Amino acid sequence: MTSFRLDESQRLLQDTVRRFAREKVAPRAQAIDETAEYPQDMFDALKELGLFSIPFPEQYGGANSVLSACVAVEELGRICYNTAYLLIVQWVPFGAILAGGTEEQKQRFLPGLADGTLRSAISVTEPGAGSDVAGITTRAEKVAGGYKLNGSKFFATNSSIADFVIVAAKTDPTLRHSGVSVFILEKGIEGFEIGPSERKLGSRGVPSSPIYLSDCFVPEANRLGPEGEGFALVMEAFNKSRAIIGARGVGLAQGALDLATDYAREREAFGQGVASFQGVQWMLADMATKIEAARLLVYKAAAEADAGVKGKELAPIAAMAKLFATDIAMEVATDAVQLFGCSGISKDNRIEQYFRDAKVLQIIEGTNQIQRNIIGKHVVKTY
Ligand SMILES: Cc1cc2nc3c(=O)[nH]c(=O)nc-3n(C[C@H](O)[C@H](O)[C@H](O)COP(=O)(O)OP(=O)(O)OC[C@H]3O[C@@H](n4cnc5c(N)ncnc54)[C@H](O)[C@@H]3O)c2cc1C
Repeated sequence: MTSFRLDESQRLLQDTVRRFAREKVAPRAQAIDETAEYPQDMFDALKELGLFSIPFPEQYGGANSVLSACVAVEELGRICYNTAYLLIVQWVPFGAILAGGTEEQKQRFLPGLADGTLRSAISVTEPGAGSDVAGITTRAEKVAGGYKLNGSKFFATNSSIADFVIVAAKTDPTLRHSGVSVFILEKGIEGFEIGPSERKLGSRGVPSSPIYLSDCFVPEANRLGPEGEGFALVMEAFNKSRAIIGARGVGLAQGALDLATDYAREREAFGQGVASFQGVQWMLADMATKIEAARLLVYKAAAEADAGVKGKELAPIAAMAKLFATDIAMEVATDAVQLFGCSGISKDNRIEQYFRDAKVLQIIEGTNQIQRNIIGKHVVKTY
């Protein structure tokens, strides 16, 4: 990356999404969180704007750019965590299919994901195994023409809405990482049941649900990538999407700073605006500086992905971007609530939602301890 400046098309995208977020998304953001109802209207609007295709290769009508995807997510996340999530939840399965799909699978699923006519989800986590992906116990047993899947998953975000779900299961339960394979489960197949949505602290607008698999037959043509290579495939998809999760952290933090700054300008104490106190200005200064640093790290990780860096080379910088930007989101949201005083605790002010959603960011797509493990291993080996 030679420059940290966005190019003209990225600046145009930023302006368009910023305007859309302020005019169309902002009036809906609080209700989406409060009701925890899937925002179909927001999905339709994103589809109409053509935003789903952004990170896709040109042949699917996309800009083939993780950096552009980060820019869009940042602007949406500044206003509404859940609307930003509608893009990301579509992009992780895209990454998995792009990384490991056959030409037939790419033709079958990618155009629909790119234009929003298909919706998807990815389901790895189980009640007994989250961080330890190689410890999953859902079983995929080889049978004539395909596989029979048995087991249960949970926290599969968007699975109740999705047309298909990418599911990780063990083809060889005696092995750890190399026993994991990945399958595409299409809606309506027998033995594939989605349970009731989790009742969540944050990230409430996009449902996360358990999945129950009971003698669920999946044809061989729906195995994604070679048998036993599912772990690497899922990790590659996560490596590519981690900068985008980081961008959601940057957007969330920026939105929290926007709200806190407006409040501090208006609120009076000791006969003056609280924004005039040096103690308050220093807090705002630290928040703004941390956000700028996180943004640069996210853009750098995205630019690396766009330059074709992948696998073990991309993993540490992608993990740094996710870790740093989402920890900053939590810190900034916490300080923003502090600056609101008691009003920050009230459900009548949106700042408390930023605080709840920030916590989710430190857990999803590999907790921030797991990101530190990835970075730590890299440091020990290379520095
Ligand atoms: C809102 C939301 C949406 C989600 N959506 C999806 C989804 O769409 N698909 C999906 O598959 N999953 C999804 N998840 C699950 C998410 O990926 C897991 O929560 C995450 O990977 C952590 O797993 P766990 O919750 O089982 O925690 P555990 O693995 O049980 O960990 C518990 C604690 O121990 C720590 N820990 C564990 N191992 C280590 C270690 N080696 N070193 C240091 N610390 C460690 C963790 O960081 C954590 O703090 C979602 C989660 C949330 C909250």
